[in-house]
Amino acid sequence: MQLRYQFRLYPTAGQQAALAKAFGCARVVFNDALAARRLPYLPDRELSKQLTEAKKTPERAWLAEVSAVVLQQALADLNTAYRNFFESTTGKRKGGRVAPPRFRSRKDSRQSIRFTRAARFAITSGGKLRLPKIGDVSVVWSRELPSRPSSVTVIKDAAGRYFASFVVEATEELLPPVESEVGIDLGLATFAVLSNGATIASPRFLQRAERRLRRLQKALSRKQKGSANRAKARIKVARAHAKVADTRRDWAHKRSTAIIRDNQAVFVEDLCVKGLSRSRLAKSVHDAGWGMFTRMLEEKARRRGRYFAEIDRYFPSSQLCSTCGRVDGPKPLCIREWTCPCGAVHDRDLNAAKNILAAGRAERLNACGALVGPDSFRRGARKQELT
Ligand SMILES: [Zn+2]
Repeated sequence: MQLRYQFRLYPTAGQQAALAKAFGCARVVFNDALAARRLPYLPDRELSKQLTEAKKTPERAWLAEVSAVVLQQALADLNTAYRNFFESTTGKRKGGRVAPPRFRSRKDSRQSIRFTRAARFAITSGGKLRLPKIGDVSVVWSRELPSRPSSVTVIKDAAGRYFASFVVEATEELLPPVESEVGIDLGLATFAVLSNGATIASPRFLQRAERRLRRLQKALSRKQKGSANRAKARIKVARAHAKVADTRRDWAHKRSTAIIRDNQAVFVEDLCVKGLSRSRLAKSVHDAGWGMFTRMLEEKARRRGRYFAEIDRYFPSSQLCSTCGRVDGPKPLCIREWTCPCGAVHDRDLNAAKNILAAGRAERLNACGALVGPDSFRRGARKQELT
């Protein structure tokens, strides 16, 4: 399976200039091709040929100053963007609608270029990343690469930081099987409630960081447009954003690793379905964190030989008694605890988590005929819903 490994890069001033040039060239190639594509249909071969021709013209001669692979990969990015767009409009791709590709701008907060093996990027014996026409760039290796990477994407984020994101082929690292299975209810007050009664609180430090971010954002909006102070304030906001994102990611990694280690099967409610029952504000604040968390669970489950599924059939997880199966009518969010006529006393979120576990187990049994691996399992569960 393919995994991404990301490391911080520290390019020298000269390398930063070379990277800026490469970002710019990739952007121009992407935009030229996008403009050409908007005309009557042009096949990929033709776009690639046009690129070669363009390099011979005085207006685009400077494209030759960066690695040709970087430019070819910019064309590949455009293809991927188009494919994602078409597949989302025809329903071939799961998840929400994907927007058609748009022109890239010098002002985009994230700039990136990709080198494949064909570009002969390398890791030097001194531990630097050798990039063609850029140089040997310093890397902070926070962990070891499991194998030789097939590509590397160099990214510059809004905070002005550089990263190398490697794609590597990694083998599964199966964990010894365990008995327990778990349903997870993602919530607003508490980040997650597990069907075994455990809870994961939203971390305090993250709330503090988010408050600070809001304050900086306000300060930015007060600065005059185009002023040097505004530019400074914008970098401050970008740095604070980056810090919150990093902290959130570390935290989510720790929590998701523990859940995968302790459980053989993990079930969560599908976020699209869950979103239906939430207000817009709550959704915007929490969806990013929930999405990252479930993606981590899914990826870790796949790698560690655990089972993961999202329950995408809508069912009233908070109205259904997990003891007797009675549906007791809707309950406003403020009701945290209720008693079912059968005598069971329920904590709202814990009851929901138990229902998610039960629904997940049922879907898993139903899909059993098609069972080969986790992926086909999941598709089976999804098909179930359509019939
Ligand atoms: Zn009951």
